[in-house]
Amino acid sequence: MYQDTIAAISTPLGEGGIGIVRLSGKDALPIAKTVFRGKLSHRRLAYGHIIDPDQGEVVDEVLISYMPAPHTYTREDIVEINCHGGPLPLQRTLQLVLRYGARLANPGEFTLRAFLNGRIDLAQAESVLGIVSARTEASLRLAVQGLEGGLSASVRAIRNQVMSALAYLAARIDFPDDEIEPQDIVRPLSEALQSLRGLIASADAGIVYRQGVRTAIVGRPNVGKSSLLNRLLRQDRSIVTAFPGTTRDTIEEVVNLKGVPFLLVDTAGIVRSKDLVESLGVERSRKAIEQADLILLVIDISEPLTAADREIMDLLGKKTVLVTANKCDLPQQAVLRGLRWEVVRISALTGEGLVQLEERMVDLALGGGVLVSDGLLVQNVRQKEALERAERSLSQALSGIAAGTPDDFITIDLGVAASALGEITGETVQDDLLEAIFSKFCVGK
Ligand code: GDP
Repeated sequence: MYQDTIAAISTPLGEGGIGIVRLSGKDALPIAKTVFRGKLSHRRLAYGHIIDPDQGEVVDEVLISYMPAPHTYTREDIVEINCHGGPLPLQRTLQLVLRYGARLANPGEFTLRAFLNGRIDLAQAESVLGIVSARTEASLRLAVQGLEGGLSASVRAIRNQVMSALAYLAARIDFPDDEIEPQDIVRPLSEALQSLRGLIASADAGIVYRQGVRTAIVGRPNVGKSSLLNRLLRQDRSIVTAFPGTTRDTIEEVVNLKGVPFLLVDTAGIVRSKDLVESLGVERSRKAIEQADLILLVIDISEPLTAADREIMDLLGKKTVLVTANKCDLPQQAVLRGLRWEVVRISALTGEGLVQLEERMVDLALGGGVLVSDGLLVQNVRQKEALERAERSLSQALSGIAAGTPDDFITIDLGVAASALGEITGETVQDDLLEAIFSKFCVGK
């Protein structure tokens, strides 16, 4: 248990029906009592007012709940104050609880405490992040499965096999002359290796469903980028959200194609820029290309390719590119032979070819058509990378056993595998890694 009590606004900033200030820690209740006028009771919503005790001024009319440890999100005492959902009542309530002894929570710190207090493991904590940021129903379903501990259970089972082989080898090393019951470790370790390989094989698809495919629509002015963007957005019959992109001057729209979230980085704004240098779009295309997983290079096939087209093509490097040959409703002038990427012909005007384009986008994103969105347990690159390290060490250990390598060397490999697996669930994890993981959360989660 931690000594300090943390607090944060746990709902999005902005105006809303209600907003919640959450407190967690051993002083959550005393602090709440200092600023609340009303009758607080366990696990009941209480009605009352938040009062500034210094001035006796009423800050807001609220509903407040008190959930005693340990059956709470963090396993600590939690108080949630349901304020009116404006920035001002929330900020003032937060300031009051901070003044009376709480500390402002870091991003993800509530979930971090849930992890450190043993309520959830690390992979589950990462699923919390996935649930919050899920953009499609498939992503959400996978995140919820993660929270239920699907990946953790598989990884623990594999790790247990490795640990039990380690224990056996350690006994053999420590007591070379004693009769130690011979044990077959090759079979369980081979099974563990198979399971690991299965997890790794589906990792990329799992990551794509969860994190989405950052897609840049690039091309010189007037080829039809905005028309294509609008088409893609209109085709998408599920929820479409717009939110500010990572750079100030791009907008990201999320479209759901067969459950895969595509984060479309709109560079079309380039074209409307008054700035002459910018109007070529090269600079902004360069930025968008750099950050993208998939590039839709739009060209206008009703005109011969121009120097500006070539200039943008030169920026593409080794990226995954789909040439989107637009305006196929017009007579073709452009020569597309010799382009080093796959070409899909479309008309953003009539909608022709859109279905094929979307299919190719999904195929490319999933690297060859995995469409099952269940059982994809790996959530992120961190987990995949740890699994790969475990796989390498485990397969090395197995070849070592086959080659008659001394037990000491085998135990080193198995130790590395066990510790890599432990990083996934958080059993063996460094503080800086925890910090990196939880800093991706929003404050209040
Ligand atoms: P951007 O500058 O690349 O974003 O291009 P826009 O989407 O603004 O399109 C430029 C012009 O081409 C507009 O007048 C569009 O109506 C037109 N346009 C876009 N797509 C098509 C298409 O598939 N066929 C035809 N005939 N015109 C198109």
